[in-house]
Amino acid sequence: MNIAYLCTSKKEITNYIPINMKKFILGVLALASAWSSAWAAEKSFTSPDGKLTVVVDDANGAATYRVNLGTTEFLGRSPLGLKTNMGDYTQGLTLAGCEVKEVKESYDLRNIKQSHVDYEATEAVCSFEQQGRKVIDVIFRVSNRDVAYRYRILPQRDTKVCVVNEEASGFQLPEGTTTFMCPQSRPMGGFARTSPSYETSYTDDDQMGKNGYGEGYSFPCLFHLGDKGWVLISETGVDGSYVASRLLNVNGGLYKIGFPQQGECNGWGSTSASVGLPSETPWRTITLGTTLAPIVETTVPFDLVEQKYKASQEYIYGKGSWSWIIGMDNSCNFDEQKRYIDFSAAMGYQTVLIDAFWDKQIGYEKIAELAAYGKTKGVGLFLWYNSNGTWNDAPQTPIGKMDKSRERRAEMAWMKSVGIRGIKVDFFGGDKQNMMQLYEDILSDANDFGILCIFHGCTLPRGWEKMYPNYAASEAVLASENLHFGQGSCDAEAHNATLHAFIRNTVGSMDFGGSTLNKYYDANNRRGTHRVTSDVYALATAVLFQSAVQHFALAPNNLTDAPAWAIDFMKNVPTTWDEVKFIDGYPGKYVIMARRTGNKWFIVGVNAQDETLKKNIDLSMFDKNAELQVYSDDAELNGSVSTVKAKKQITVTIPKNGGLVIVNK
Ligand code: CA
Repeated sequence: MNIAYLCTSKKEITNYIPINMKKFILGVLALASAWSSAWAAEKSFTSPDGKLTVVVDDANGAATYRVNLGTTEFLGRSPLGLKTNMGDYTQGLTLAGCEVKEVKESYDLRNIKQSHVDYEATEAVCSFEQQGRKVIDVIFRVSNRDVAYRYRILPQRDTKVCVVNEEASGFQLPEGTTTFMCPQSRPMGGFARTSPSYETSYTDDDQMGKNGYGEGYSFPCLFHLGDKGWVLISETGVDGSYVASRLLNVNGGLYKIGFPQQGECNGWGSTSASVGLPSETPWRTITLGTTLAPIVETTVPFDLVEQKYKASQEYIYGKGSWSWIIGMDNSCNFDEQKRYIDFSAAMGYQTVLIDAFWDKQIGYEKIAELAAYGKTKGVGLFLWYNSNGTWNDAPQTPIGKMDKSRERRAEMAWMKSVGIRGIKVDFFGGDKQNMMQLYEDILSDANDFGILCIFHGCTLPRGWEKMYPNYAASEAVLASENLHFGQGSCDAEAHNATLHAFIRNTVGSMDFGGSTLNKYYDANNRRGTHRVTSDVYALATAVLFQSAVQHFALAPNNLTDAPAWAIDFMKNVPTTWDEVKFIDGYPGKYVIMARRTGNKWFIVGVNAQDETLKKNIDLSMFDKNAELQVYSDDAELNGSVSTVKAKKQITVTIPKNGGLVIVNK
């Protein structure tokens, strides 16, 4: 039954027929309409293991989908569709059919949570027509733990380009669901008018039906469906050919995709996406399960995207030190950076990150000297840049070097000539398409010169570890700088760590810059904000927070004032991993998980609750009788390390703000 056709003919008929007759015909049409919606096309398809089911239908001319895990509804009937300047593809739609096939792919990626991925999913391409013409396909991918979809927008007659003004793409969560989400900031606010940059706080187990500060929420967004399980909503595959989006509340449990705000990027650029036809939009991703394991372990941000260019060289990831987090702007001077190069060398680290104002306080010539000095010690340099531009008031320099191609490439040619390892570009202007293009341009230019890229004051990475081979990590989190800026952040440090492990860090590398071993965020380790977390906590988060490139908040004085076992651990901790396993936890309360590299498993835990956590942990991942090193805290947060033989289980305790690490020797 073609509803779109009925709607059109209704209008035509009523224009030419006497009134009484009209009433009669309208009555018949209304009946036909009700009847046709009961007979609306409905297609369903399932994950490879048959447990996840997606049902797509076109009742009343609106495209919708719903998601079940087993017999439990995880997403109720949720809208699909787009509004473009070619047409409104949210109504008058008919589902022409779904073409279903199996997808099996394998890939290797050393800079994500899992080095080798065997991806298996059901793909369903559902075609929608409007007035008899094919207008959009909704391409679904259903793996055993994720549902994802994107649109293919089809050209109409001679139209080769179009503007997407809005997506209907929605997510209908069941009643009683609670949320763990970060409000999206309003544009041109915060420090030096640099927002939004994904640096707001979560509210744990919040009620649905709110809309953050009025502007929705930043991805990823976590939902707790009570006894049923968990849902994480995000997106992936965003580049310069679309906008990055956020999650808006429509009402109650219904959320939808929101496009950028007008004021972002100082008003420059559209809130819409301008695309060539045919065009495929970014993927909307829904990761779900009865426990948090699918969310911690998902690789969906990477499964659905392709590498956009070849690496110009084999990039070196690894660890580094970073003076700014303890010493701030004044530490960005020649002598202190030389001292940090020596410190990195003493730790066996690969890099030093030199933060803002190096151009003024050190200068280009002396940076070249530092780079040459670092080279003799096996330590490469990362240099900080302001992305501005015309979209923030931040005074930090260098400035005007990253926003335009000619200046950027000249700067990068200089970097290559003196042997700079990477850049950290800060203070981006939001999520509009022009900003997404800037990220992509910086990355692809940097690859030409063999430079790794870290982004700060930035958007969430959306599949970028796979798309861009020289992408290292992004901040997009309330990161370690806040521990220096305010005691409140120090007091909430463990609480936030237990959120990041289940939300932000599950979808992409997180440049947190933590694992502080100083007692105080101060060059003399005597005043300022003070750390309330334990040394073992610092070790645990070095594993918990995943990023292939890490710049830890360690300081040269830690070589003598921190426990030797802590320094030894930080010297040897890996930054790339083969596998991750969720063990236990609850966002905002505690987390226990494990990462593997080769035959070494690191079980790590953090507790943010007032009461000491006591848990039995299964040790079956280790060989029987393997020698394990257990790093743990006593009730006063005094850490120690002991050696035990692997058995079936171990009982562990983690006090508030404490940590746990278990690793085989
Ligand atoms: Ca920041």
